[in-house]
Amino acid sequence: MAVAHQGGTETRLREAVAERLGEARFGLWFGEGVQLGVSGDALEVGVPNAFFREWIQGHFASNLIEAAEAVTGRPLRLTFRVFDEAEPKVGGVIEPGPPDERRRPTVTIPMSPAPRPPASPPERPRNQSRPPRRLDDFVTGPCNRLAHAAAVEMVQSSGSAFNPLVVHAGVGLGKTHLLEGIGRALRARHPGLRLIQATAEVFTNSFLDAMRTGTLASFRSRYRGAEALILDDVHFLAAKRATQDEFLHTFNALIADGAPIVLAADQHPKRIARLTDELATRFLGGMVVKLDTPDLATRRAILKAKAAARGVDVPEAILDYIAEHLRASVRELEGALHSLIAHALLTGKRIDMALARTALRDTIRHTAQAVALRDVERIVCQLFEVEPDALKSVSRARALTYPRMLAMYLIRKHTGAAYSEIGRHFGGRNHSTVISAEKKVLGWLRDEQRTSLLPGFETIADVLAALERMLGV
Ligand code: ADP
Ligand code: MG
Repeated sequence: MAVAHQGGTETRLREAVAERLGEARFGLWFGEGVQLGVSGDALEVGVPNAFFREWIQGHFASNLIEAAEAVTGRPLRLTFRVFDEAEPKVGGVIEPGPPDERRRPTVTIPMSPAPRPPASPPERPRNQSRPPRRLDDFVTGPCNRLAHAAAVEMVQSSGSAFNPLVVHAGVGLGKTHLLEGIGRALRARHPGLRLIQATAEVFTNSFLDAMRTGTLASFRSRYRGAEALILDDVHFLAAKRATQDEFLHTFNALIADGAPIVLAADQHPKRIARLTDELATRFLGGMVVKLDTPDLATRRAILKAKAAARGVDVPEAILDYIAEHLRASVRELEGALHSLIAHALLTGKRIDMALARTALRDTIRHTAQAVALRDVERIVCQLFEVEPDALKSVSRARALTYPRMLAMYLIRKHTGAAYSEIGRHFGGRNHSTVISAEKKVLGWLRDEQRTSLLPGFETIADVLAALERMLGV
């Protein structure tokens, strides 16, 4: 695909991205070797390898899209071009980062301490060489027990107990793991099963290809003739009208045949913006289960299992230390463990508390994003489907006071903003208004306040958790 590098667009894009990420992070991830360009309706990011693609996609997608819109004045989608398709080795082989150090972009500004390649292995693309994950390796706790049980039931009943199964959760909480586990177990139980296991992105691209090349008939017979379908990341279908219609037909055909369908999404189907009502309703026709962030005991159990799987003896106290400090996702826990083991091997040191602190620092440095007041505002507006100006208005309508209070609370929690600054931002309100908003939200959290504010959410805590996931904190 030809990328237009015309008229300094790249320079302006780079400036806009740098402005959003800060010089340090920009220098680390968008230095030499990473290109930005506009091609048709896409912002195309040229990266040296898949590792970079995963990392940039996972951490900076929204910053990039925002920057591109600011520069071009229109919304663009994000695409990647990988210069070297060779996969970095992660997982089984201990590697602190991309294997080819020379391909990393040069760090253009001094950083202290010296930047390291991120320790956590990125989510692998689907053409991976490792075997799919297993349901048996999925560690359960209160956060995911129901989802795991539903997955097992889906395998045993082949969809006759309920159909479809929809698993939803934020990133790194085990959706893909469960889906892979189901696929593997279905295959083991029914050798020769015509199972299609893909992402919604693959479905979309195959469909568009089939339209373009006039091969819709074979596309349809392939998908509609499947005996089981597992589709990951269905939120990718949002706003893609033609693909959604096509998928609806696929879905209906399979359900009519009694073929099991398993879907994963980053939100409750009702909350996936710009998914047709018809499709959302179909998704709710079977079982919808959520994966929550793991509690302390589950985090410990996961770390223990992962350390054992790698054949490394990590003292309990160290596992506890990591489990106590990293709460956001399982992927983050894996990242810290990976970093811990890598450091131990590279330095030849024993695994002790000092090493654990380093591992945590590595993981935190690369996962935690500096959150700005406007990030929170944008996310809150997106979830509640309100305009930023409305949040700043004097209106005391419930539809606005709730999101406003939640935004104030989250800004206090995740940014360094002072009460007075937050008040000023939200239409020149007094700092005491912000203090009382924060108190109110804390009260709701304490009382496990239920809410009917948004379909798909039971409690205020659920709403806040979703917002925090969207913020990537
Ligand atoms: P998602 O698809 O929700 O973003 P993944 O399924 O890719 O998340 O999970 C991220 C990582 O965490 C994977 O390596 C996965 O194996 C691991 N993981 C998630 N949940 C569990 C669990 N309950 N037990 C063991 N490993 C888990
Ligand atoms: Mg996934």
